[in-house]
Amino acid sequence: MIYDVAIVGAGPGGIYTAYELMQKATKPLRVVVFELGHPLQQRKCPIDGDKVKSCIRCKTCSIMSGFGGAGAFSDGKYNITNDFGGSLHAHIGKQRALELMRYVDEVNLRYGGEGTKLYSTANTAIKQMCLKNGLHLLDAQVRHLGTDINYIVLQNLYEALKDRCEFRFGTPVAEVRRDPEGYQLTLGNGESVVARQCVISVGRSGSKWMEGVCRAMDIPTLSNRVDIGVRVELPAAIFSHLTDELYESKIVYRTEKFEDRVRTFCMNPRGAVVSENTNGIVTVNGHSYEDPARHTENTNFALLVSKTFSEPFKDSNGYGESIARLSNMLGGGVIVQRFGDLVRGRRSTPGRIRESFVTPTLAATPGDLSLVIPKRILDGIIEMIYALDKIAPGTANDDTLLYGVEVKFYNMEVELDENLETEYPGLYVIGDGSGVTHSLSHASASGIHVARRILRETEA
Ligand SMILES: Cc1cc2nc3c(=O)[nH]c(=O)nc-3n(C[C@H](O)[C@H](O)[C@H](O)COP(=O)(O)OP(=O)(O)OC[C@H]3O[C@@H](n4cnc5c(N)ncnc54)[C@H](O)[C@@H]3O)c2cc1C
Repeated sequence: MIYDVAIVGAGPGGIYTAYELMQKATKPLRVVVFELGHPLQQRKCPIDGDKVKSCIRCKTCSIMSGFGGAGAFSDGKYNITNDFGGSLHAHIGKQRALELMRYVDEVNLRYGGEGTKLYSTANTAIKQMCLKNGLHLLDAQVRHLGTDINYIVLQNLYEALKDRCEFRFGTPVAEVRRDPEGYQLTLGNGESVVARQCVISVGRSGSKWMEGVCRAMDIPTLSNRVDIGVRVELPAAIFSHLTDELYESKIVYRTEKFEDRVRTFCMNPRGAVVSENTNGIVTVNGHSYEDPARHTENTNFALLVSKTFSEPFKDSNGYGESIARLSNMLGGGVIVQRFGDLVRGRRSTPGRIRESFVTPTLAATPGDLSLVIPKRILDGIIEMIYALDKIAPGTANDDTLLYGVEVKFYNMEVELDENLETEYPGLYVIGDGSGVTHSLSHASASGIHVARRILRETEA
């Protein structure tokens, strides 16, 4: 049997490709989705805070893989903007990118997200306050679905799709090759299937695999960026004047010392800090729930510095991985340090963390981040914490907790045209796996864009 379309990966990119194909096709299409992880309800991270306290490096990470992809347990912050979250607009145009992000937002509302709040940063007094203090607030609309509603939307989408296209879970695609009929996919179990068109949406967790496909098929790529930093956790009251109005504020600061850019990322009001495992490397992240019953006392966000390398060094992700490995080596996973201890040049100890006025939401190993994070990056983060203290007094308190390391790995960017198609006709690469997107909204929108292109091609 030959499929019309094979989709590799059931994250937001893959799901919205399947959704749009099923929704808009005027004649029957045989669509198969291969996903190496589990169906949504079987995705369970073994960390229970009791018997299993930290990452045990499962073969398939339930946080990163399975229906819903890396976004399944995310905070569900759906940012409608071209200012961050990827460079989809560079391929498909700013107007179209925004239209598609809004379209996905409407789908999310129909599938369980109705009633969730849409925040906007435009023309706020906060923007002015930031500017007066050397900080720049980026423009965006953000819908906060929350981890709980995000899960419901995914459940509803799966119910709507499961009888109309074929989902094969626990089925990694090992190889993609050209075939006279289109593309031949070799599966992890050795089986081969053929599809006329193939959409690859393997996310960040599939970055190494994607590199292999590009190498094998001689598809040109670019790779030069990694973001390194820490996750900050502090009492929610310190940031409540920002988070109550904007939910998430993306703030950029240029350091005085090195003129490096440091930015806030993934802000989770009254949320929790979590660890994540990417290809066996444990890093830190955060999320929060829409349901007030699941709120914590703390707000967390990342402070990240982008490192872009020039020739001859090409392995920016390898650089980020080495720093994360160092923290894993010293702390057995994620390290936590009080800001007061960091600026005094001493490690945090379990006793100092216990006596802190901020109770950590993640059981991390107390340690010394200055032994892990390069000086230039750490200096930038410290400078930004003092800058944020001017708009949110208390940010630079001794008890503010810093978890490390947070690393945002960027996939190498695959060379794609305006249809997100490779030089091979009918072979598309979308979502975070393409290096073009880094967010739920851009990844989902890229899926819709490609599905519409496939429909135009197959129905012409
Ligand atoms: C903890 C956390 C919180 C986040 N919070 C937010 C947020 O609030 N807002 C936001 O915009 N973004 C957030 N993100 C990022 C967001 O989740 C991603 O940008 C988005 O999921 C990318 O979608 P994708 O479909 O491109 O890839 P993914 O979601 O990564 O999905 C790719 C899928 O492909 C599968 N796969 C990989 N290789 C193969 C293979 N060879 N064969 C078969 N299947 C394969 C993987 O198992 C995975 O399920 C968060 C990420 C994490 C980890």
